[in-house]
Amino acid sequence: MAEEKSYKYVIIGGGVAGGYAAREFSNQGLKPGELAIISKEPVPPFERPELTKTYIDLEVNPTLANIYVCAGTGEAKQYPNWYKEKGIDLIVSTEIVKADLASKTLVSDDGTIYKYQTLLIATGSTNIRLSEIGVQLQEADVKNIFYLREIEDSDELSFAMELYVQRGKAVVIGGGFLGLEISSALRANNHEVTMVFPEPWLIHRFFTAEIASFYEGYCANKGIKIIKGTVATGFSTNSDGEVTEVKLEDGRTLEANIVVAGVGARPVTSLFKGQVEEEKGGIKTDGFFKTSVPDVYALGDVATFPMKMYGGMRRVEHADNARKSAAQAVKAIKAAEEGKKIPDYDYLPYFYSRFFDLSWVFYGDNVGESVLFGDNDPKSPKPKFGTYWVKDGKVVGVFLEGGTQEEHKAIAKVARAQPSVESLDVLSEEGLSFATNN
Ligand code: FAD
Repeated sequence: MAEEKSYKYVIIGGGVAGGYAAREFSNQGLKPGELAIISKEPVPPFERPELTKTYIDLEVNPTLANIYVCAGTGEAKQYPNWYKEKGIDLIVSTEIVKADLASKTLVSDDGTIYKYQTLLIATGSTNIRLSEIGVQLQEADVKNIFYLREIEDSDELSFAMELYVQRGKAVVIGGGFLGLEISSALRANNHEVTMVFPEPWLIHRFFTAEIASFYEGYCANKGIKIIKGTVATGFSTNSDGEVTEVKLEDGRTLEANIVVAGVGARPVTSLFKGQVEEEKGGIKTDGFFKTSVPDVYALGDVATFPMKMYGGMRRVEHADNARKSAAQAVKAIKAAEEGKKIPDYDYLPYFYSRFFDLSWVFYGDNVGESVLFGDNDPKSPKPKFGTYWVKDGKVVGVFLEGGTQEEHKAIAKVARAQPSVESLDVLSEEGLSFATNN
């Protein structure tokens, strides 16, 4: 007879959103035994963005304990004991393999049945595999091809980085956020690094050509080689099955003993297909992260929610939204229990990245015309520059490299307030002071 457990609240997924939701439940008041977090991962919720930052830095040699949530917002870290003290059942290394939302029943891979009154879906994203985008390989047969999402992925990559440190030749496939951070980490750890991607510039979906030109120049100065306009099509291996070469579509081959793929991610929604309304690849929610099914909420990467500031529905695959959507959902659940209502989610998009000694942040929307300000010379000893995006005569988005905390607050304020501007020239001339004096 299968074991059956029953909880008032169940969170599926022990990632960023799961961890921050637990924090909010605790803030709002939680009785022991009311909440379970069921997570496929073997470890408590941690700040996933750190996998490509501090956690992969062999010099810093950080431990997992350094990056438990809520390290990312400067609040107390939730060590395993924290969950015990709060009476939260943190059930790790356990995958939910079946979800029946009509009967409020979940089944895990060890056959346990979980009943809930309220469900929070925080299953995040999964990495797109190279074989899914047309690269010819039997992934299981080629050693030293890495993806980064879980602690284990990062540990395995670190091990390979140490192993090949004397003759490390790494190829990073993908020119997005992850590709850039991973390339920097590999280079900082003395590997020869080549990045390969089909787009005309780095982080093409988000960076302007001018922003990308700075980071490409900076990477080149650090010794990273960038090959654009082509894709990897296959690999050569030695008799041990270890990768030795990456074959490119344009006929070139690149020597490699480490390959890291950062070619995108997709939300993990398959358990709920046909049971809940979806939109834009995610689970459709309202401004309280409530789905189309009563008592079921979706947070973080999987949620497609109404973007109050800009209209329309969006899915946001970034840590800040994972944290804030989790807090919003839990506040809404608790308020509803008391017959109260809270304001709709009013999210100001915030993305960030750090690598080498660089650090950028972005607030708002990257639509309309853009204008660069500041010093974006990759050879500058202390480069500091930014970009404003202007739509319908209003500043709607701001990017800043090398800013201070105060400056970040100022640009966030501008992106939220959307002040009118006479012309792009004004922004170009005033630069950062347009935001700091506003
Ligand atoms: P996740 O944190 O991915 O958590 C999902 C959890 O659900 C995982 O524990 C997973 O195992 C679990 N799960 C899934 N299915 C099941 C199941 N059936 N049963 C049980 N458990 C399940 N964002 C930024 O803003 N800035 C950055 O610099 C940045 N860097 C990143 C670097 C890396 C390497 C990665 C992978 C992501 C990065 N991100 C960054 C994105 C950010 O980490 C995500 O947006 C955030 O983690 C989303 O939180 P989440 O809780 O929705 O999903």
